[in-house]
Amino acid sequence: MSNMLRIVNGRIYDPINDIDGEIRDICVQDGKIVADVPPEARRIDASGMVVMPGGVDIHCHIAGSKVNLARKLQPEERRHDVHPRTLFTRSGTGGSVPSTFATGYRYAMLGYTTAMEAAVPPLGARHTLEELHDTPVLDKGFFVLMGNNALLYQLLKEGRKEEFREAVAWWINAARAYAIKLVNPGGAEAWKGGRNAYITDLNQEIDAFGLTPNNVVQALVDVAAELNLPHPAHIHCNNLGVAGNYETTLETMRAVSGRRAHITHIQFHSYGGEFGARHKSQAPAIAEYINNHPNISADVGQVMFGKATGMTADAQLGWMLHQVSGNKWVNADVEHESGCGIVPFVYEDKKYVHALQWAIGLELFLLSKDPWRMVLSTDHPNGGSFLSYPRLIRLLMDREFRMDQIRSVNQQAIKQTVLLDNLEREYTLQEIAIVTRAGPARLLGLRNKGQLGVGADADITIYMEHEDKEEMFSTPRYVLKDGRIIIEDGEFRADYEGRVLHVAPDYDPKVEEVIRPFFEDYYTIQFDNYPVGERYLHKHEVVPTVSTTDK
Ligand SMILES: [Zn+2]
Repeated sequence: MSNMLRIVNGRIYDPINDIDGEIRDICVQDGKIVADVPPEARRIDASGMVVMPGGVDIHCHIAGSKVNLARKLQPEERRHDVHPRTLFTRSGTGGSVPSTFATGYRYAMLGYTTAMEAAVPPLGARHTLEELHDTPVLDKGFFVLMGNNALLYQLLKEGRKEEFREAVAWWINAARAYAIKLVNPGGAEAWKGGRNAYITDLNQEIDAFGLTPNNVVQALVDVAAELNLPHPAHIHCNNLGVAGNYETTLETMRAVSGRRAHITHIQFHSYGGEFGARHKSQAPAIAEYINNHPNISADVGQVMFGKATGMTADAQLGWMLHQVSGNKWVNADVEHESGCGIVPFVYEDKKYVHALQWAIGLELFLLSKDPWRMVLSTDHPNGGSFLSYPRLIRLLMDREFRMDQIRSVNQQAIKQTVLLDNLEREYTLQEIAIVTRAGPARLLGLRNKGQLGVGADADITIYMEHEDKEEMFSTPRYVLKDGRIIIEDGEFRADYEGRVLHVAPDYDPKVEEVIRPFFEDYYTIQFDNYPVGERYLHKHEVVPTVSTTDK
């Protein structure tokens, strides 16, 4: 009976199954939700509690070479935030970039059970998988960087569309990735090699390649659809952080013309104002475009005040952040695949630009008409740590608290926004369940996540109902992963290893004849040593590449 469980008297929020705060039983057997269990099954009395599927983070940076570089760059964070071992769990360190073990435990302590590492160059896949293996409790996967890949550029330029598609599929398999990621397409290539050039326009030619970011975006959006990947191309647009960049963002969304695309941390791409001058908000224009275009989804990338770490494959942006903050930084190139910049950062509520970024994130949340397509993220640790999610939830759910906060930050920034224009909206618990679990799961194409229907993974979080939503979402009473009680009364009761989620699209092995010579000429690693072997996967699940519903 130990693998069976009945949760009784809880108030269920399960938007995928249209259950909005009804008191119902949830039954669990062998790691899955089932219709019923025998009366002798263990019971959890969830009276006065809220039951939701485990949280799903669609975009964060938690594992791999750039994350590790960020840890090394900030030894002070290790010393000041020790995560001690317990009877059941291992030790680690925290800060804005926690160690692997602490990352898994701290996500679990917030009721999150799935998280996606959002930017890994194929060359970093082994390292990433090793770290994900050491990231407990969570199911996890990663997005592989494809937007600045020299060989893919060459195939695209030469019009070799089929080989381009086969090469992308080969690369996804070689890295054991979950989705295709584009970061500032063309930007890293322009920046690298001592040229230090910027890409500032979607239709600007990428130095030496005879291609534009527009060409790259379109090609990868198409391939994600042709390969039936469960998640569409995940796009970090050009010009992140730059005043006036909302035009590039709108242009990118228009360029995909009706095809599915996910625009990530869109807050950082919603700025008005003249290039090089003061930032303004264009959140209403961005929110309106997304409201009217169901093919586009986004995560917000909310900025939260306090310590953050800028951590990006957008090396050009890393340099810019270093320039404005004066903070220490690292720049790293990844051969023919990507760039990387890391800058420790502090968001301050009295600084104009920081307060404006914070306010723009809130505008996007409050102006979004479809929570399924505008989901919650801080682009951890870029906009702030995932540990700030409970506070963000309170900002969305509690208007009075929000207004107090709005009045206490830089008022010049607030005047640039619509936050004082009767934005009365308060998110409901059902809407929070959508933006933190059901929505991200659906956008990722993870059919067994983000819901509590029969057959779903029994990843369940149970919160005490509480007036203070920050308090409520900070300390779940129970967290279950695959039907096991990991946290009870806010304390760990067990350790657990989650699965690596990846896809394995079919490809024609003949494409290796195209890729191999490029490796021999230009890579530092032998072609045969490059694809990641089965032994790096440990517990894993291949998510099927079948035609997806994009509801
Ligand atoms: Zn990111």
